[in-house]
Amino acid sequence: MRKQLVAGNWKMNGSRESVAALTEGLKSGAAELAGKVDVAVFPSSIFVQRVADTLSSGEIAWGVQNICTEEKGAFTGEISISMAKDFGCEMILVGHSERRSLYGETDAEVVTKVRHAGKAGLIPVLCVGETLEEREADKTMEVVARQVQVVLNEIQSEYLEKLVIAYEPVWAIGTGLTASPEQAQEVHAAIRQLLTEHDADMAARTRILYGGSVKGSNAAEIFTGADVDGGLVGGASLDVQDFLTICR
Ligand code: PGA
Repeated sequence: MRKQLVAGNWKMNGSRESVAALTEGLKSGAAELAGKVDVAVFPSSIFVQRVADTLSSGEIAWGVQNICTEEKGAFTGEISISMAKDFGCEMILVGHSERRSLYGETDAEVVTKVRHAGKAGLIPVLCVGETLEEREADKTMEVVARQVQVVLNEIQSEYLEKLVIAYEPVWAIGTGLTASPEQAQEVHAAIRQLLTEHDADMAARTRILYGGSVKGSNAAEIFTGADVDGGLVGGASLDVQDFLTICR
């Protein structure tokens, strides 16, 4: 019943020229995927208008990689949820491990951003995952459960209707290492269990994506897990053909 979702996180990459080529390549390649899988891209926000111009009549959704906790005003350098919505964004990445580790984003800020997205009717893609140190100390589930539970505890259900969770082990992001299909399924099943304890209907409909060095050559194997509902793809999403292979 859950439709798979493959989303590309372009991070701080691209130029006007490369973004135009990537977006146009995806648009033509995605026609064959229509109805089979949901596809989305997260460009740098400076390219959102460019991406929207190309993708607006098609099947691929787009979003921003971060929003501000504040709604408007004197917050130099920030982007608000209403700006994202105004530019046709359907999804918002929240709590990516790079935001948490490099910019000190806290669970409390993540909660606020997920709430903004939910209230605006957009899809928050909540990123969670453990570091290598945490995995080696057997703390994977403790960390992931904390990151998910705080959102479930703090946000009213109506704002979590469209929630998507992306499990991204930090040690697998951009490293070429991936969780094994069994490791991924184990954590995804545990997240699904947490959701079930909160609200069984929500657990059944919430998509849980895997992220961390997903490529065309390993996606099919990683996506076999019963609780793996697609992927959040970084590096490989910058390559039209590899990204389309993952979607297929
Ligand atoms: P990666 O990044 O696919 O390059 O490992 C994934 C992510 O950060 O979302």
